[in-house]
Amino acid sequence: MALIVQKYGGTSVANVERIRHVAARVVETAKQGHQVAVVVSAMAGETDALVALANDAAGDRPDPREYDALVSTGEQKTIALLAMAIQRLGNKARSFTGGQMGMRTDASFTRARIQSIDTERIHAVLQGGAVAVIAGFQGIDEEGNVTTLGRGGSDTSAVAVAAALQADVCEIYTDVNGVYTTDPNMVPAARKLARISFEEMLEMASLGAKVLQIRSVKLAQQYGVPLHVRSTFETTEGTWVTREEDVMERLVVSGVTYQRNEAKIRVRGVKDQPGVSARLFTPISDAGIVVDMIIQNVGQDGTTDITFTVPRADFKRAMEMAQQAGREIGAGGIEGDDKIAKVSIVGLGMKDHAGVATKMFRTLADEAINIQMISTSEIKISVVVEEKYTELAVRALHAAFVEHGAAEPQPE
Ligand code: ADP
Ligand code: ASP
Ligand code: MG
Repeated sequence: MALIVQKYGGTSVANVERIRHVAARVVETAKQGHQVAVVVSAMAGETDALVALANDAAGDRPDPREYDALVSTGEQKTIALLAMAIQRLGNKARSFTGGQMGMRTDASFTRARIQSIDTERIHAVLQGGAVAVIAGFQGIDEEGNVTTLGRGGSDTSAVAVAAALQADVCEIYTDVNGVYTTDPNMVPAARKLARISFEEMLEMASLGAKVLQIRSVKLAQQYGVPLHVRSTFETTEGTWVTREEDVMERLVVSGVTYQRNEAKIRVRGVKDQPGVSARLFTPISDAGIVVDMIIQNVGQDGTTDITFTVPRADFKRAMEMAQQAGREIGAGGIEGDDKIAKVSIVGLGMKDHAGVATKMFRTLADEAINIQMISTSEIKISVVVEEKYTELAVRALHAAFVEHGAAEPQPE
């Protein structure tokens, strides 16, 4: 007998028919003699609709506590519906909100971090032969306020529950068959990976492959949770996210990702002297805005340009702050562009292959795509391009590195 945590995403529970399908899969697992805890998301589109309502009511800047109180209700509906559907099949089931199962988080509303889980109630339910149906994405803070974990946070709830229960496996059921070499909904030639290392999955998740929330990958790595991403609608084996040593096939590039929700800000003609960057970026980071890439040009005539990227949702606020700081540091001008995208290639094999960056740049040049910014780390290269070229760039890079990537790049 194993203890299995299963997580079903929004598309998997999009309507009652699908919830009944999920119930059947859960009951099938329980019938095999396993203990099953299920973590569910809100029905597809539900969280987006709740966010839109909050923005409508509050005029775009909802109070974070009330925002969480509202958006967490999506998951509350699904747990009750799934528990009913499981009961209808003759199996015992009991639903739990984050608060009811003791999912304690800090008080950072809209992006709370999990602190502890009280597993006693869940264990009691499982030992009594029932399925525990748990709301993803939500918790409660010390004072009993409802909190949420950030978009896509049900993945993180599931891994945290699996770690706390010391489950044998955490299965992430979704609308694709596993983790692919790129978004299979954009590139039909995308290939399913049998295994992917935690390191590569972390990079892919942080660079736009939304199939797993980045924090769920970090938690799984930290607690050694066996993580299996697979399809709700098929029974085929999915992708195991695992330690680097256990990945048999070491590809130079194992993934191509994209993020459209980016914006860039250029601060022209600032004095090339100490303190300028600190003055520019302090208010932005104090406002909780995450700056991603930063490029500072080589100074000329005592001045320089600084260009940086922020999430598109924070573009307006970051522009206001850059304008304010720009006035104080005597900048020549501020320009913003929110029609950009970041396209990246990820792979452990890059560590020991030269020429990967050159091949990436040449591939984009052959498609006449201009590269606006570049950033690299040991196992990834990212470029910023005009948003309208996103799909073309992803397809071209996937073709060059994955479809025809067997030939290794020549040393530079
Ligand atoms: P869920 O609602 O189940 O949490 P998500 O929509 O959050 O599902 O994540 C699954 C989606 O992630 C897929 O439908 C796919 O379009 C997208 N995706 C992006 N990159 C990848 C990738 N490399 N492998 C698999 N899916 C990916
Ligand atoms: N329902 C939440 C969202 O849409 C959490 C999740 O689905 O993982 O972001
Ligand atoms: Mg998701």
